[in-house]
Amino acid sequence: MSEATAETQKNAKITVKGLRKSFGTNEVLKGIDVEIREGEVVCVIGPSGSGKSTLLRCLNKLEEISDGHVIVDGFDVTDPKVDINEVRRHVGMVFQHFNLFPHMSVMENIMLAPVELKKATKDEAKAQALKLLARVGLQEKANARPASLSGGQKQRVAIARALAMNPGIMLFDEATSALDPEMVGEVLQVIRDLAAEGMTMVLVTHEMGFAKEIGDRVVFMADGVVCESGKPADLFGNPQQARTKEFLSKVL
Ligand code: ADP
Ligand code: MG
Repeated sequence: MSEATAETQKNAKITVKGLRKSFGTNEVLKGIDVEIREGEVVCVIGPSGSGKSTLLRCLNKLEEISDGHVIVDGFDVTDPKVDINEVRRHVGMVFQHFNLFPHMSVMENIMLAPVELKKATKDEAKAQALKLLARVGLQEKANARPASLSGGQKQRVAIARALAMNPGIMLFDEATSALDPEMVGEVLQVIRDLAAEGMTMVLVTHEMGFAKEIGDRVVFMADGVVCESGKPADLFGNPQQARTKEFLSKVL
């Protein structure tokens, strides 16, 4: 094995090889190969329906994988014997529509997984939840119900909740798409802070400016394949594929 290969493998946090995913006869991922290194921020862009969400959901097995391999933090997600709850402890996920539990306070939302899954004591989980709320600037909302929060606040709580398991990887699926424009910035700032702390992240985003700013790499998907990927300056500034050029001409 060459030194370069050994180095890549050592640092690979996510390895996707030949990933295929079908819903019935509709093949929506047609052989995806992606590797994401520790501390890397990868933005996934592409037209609606190209398979971006499905790819993200395959990384923590929210979808059954039809073929290929997905290795996350050393776990082979495609191995039927893998403990998927253990895998999900390593991978935090944030969705477009927040998915907070409406009948629980902000604090209880954040404490739930550590208490239920990791067997943290309530006191430990509470102390950590308060720290996480401080990190996303929402200490004063600890006892509020999600319904009383703005969209931007809800999404910051959802991020704090995902961080409560101390994941090594964070996945964001259009985390700002459901927000009013004036609330996008506060959520992007939290994501920016995570990147600065060295969190490994995969972000599906429509915010091209943000992808340019924060991404170490941008992956452009179309029709279930990775059409092109590269450094933001290259992909946005000098796209190689006709499909990429066409997409960028519409969104930039
Ligand atoms: P994107 O996130 O890029 O918009 P998706 O991954 O959501 O794309 O969807 C890719 C394709 O897979 C679409 O054609 C969509 O209709 C289909 N699809 C996604 N989820 C399901 C599902 N649970 N059942 C059937 N088809 C699905
Ligand atoms: Mg999607």
